[in-house]
Amino acid sequence: MRIVLLGAPGAGKGTQAQKLVEDYGVAHISTGDLLRAAVKAQSALGVQAKGYMDAGKLVPDELVIGLVTERLQQDDAQRGFVLDGFPRNTDQADALDVELAKLDMGLDAALLVDVRPEVIVNRLSSRRTCHDCGYTATEGVTACPRCGGKMYQRDDDRPETIARRLETYKNQTAPLIEYYRGHGILKEVDGDRPVGEVYADVTSSLGL
Ligand code: AMP
Repeated sequence: MRIVLLGAPGAGKGTQAQKLVEDYGVAHISTGDLLRAAVKAQSALGVQAKGYMDAGKLVPDELVIGLVTERLQQDDAQRGFVLDGFPRNTDQADALDVELAKLDMGLDAALLVDVRPEVIVNRLSSRRTCHDCGYTATEGVTACPRCGGKMYQRDDDRPETIARRLETYKNQTAPLIEYYRGHGILKEVDGDRPVGEVYADVTSSLGL
């Protein structure tokens, strides 16, 4: 399985990716998680990325493409992968095609988890994320149900940044829907339903 998950921030890509990883043993490659880890570690990449992330803007392509290229070469990704949050624009999608071709791989599907913007704003503002493993839950949950880590509100899940992220999605990332439709690999599921129902559609649309 080699797939790209598309959808606005808060559409549930991470949640669906985690379920696919648990059930099919593929690698979860989330550029948001990789970047947040770099920020936490205060690496050179993290220091460069932080300002863009806090502002709800995309981190420059060359930084993110380098990160994904490296990650795709790791052992676990050879069994398959779910890309979550990458690509975010058509230049990244083109770069991904080139990298995959070098590795003699191709994408099986680009799966759009479709959720209306009104729903997204509510989901993101009440979302809490685990400091240690990145698991997400709604506000009120203080300990991570998966690893026991402390839950916090991401800086970019605050109302002032959410609007900016949704604007970035509309202008830069949403065009990927037509991009992958043109490549004949687009699948769509309605993401505005309980997690289990969305997941049932995800697996059936992927033919799993
Ligand atoms: P996410 O966790 O996917 O919502 O990503 C959080 C933030 O990380 C985004 O708002 C961007 O600032 C940055 N980011 C994540 N993935 C990418 C990407 N593929 N290209 C550029 N920036 C990214």
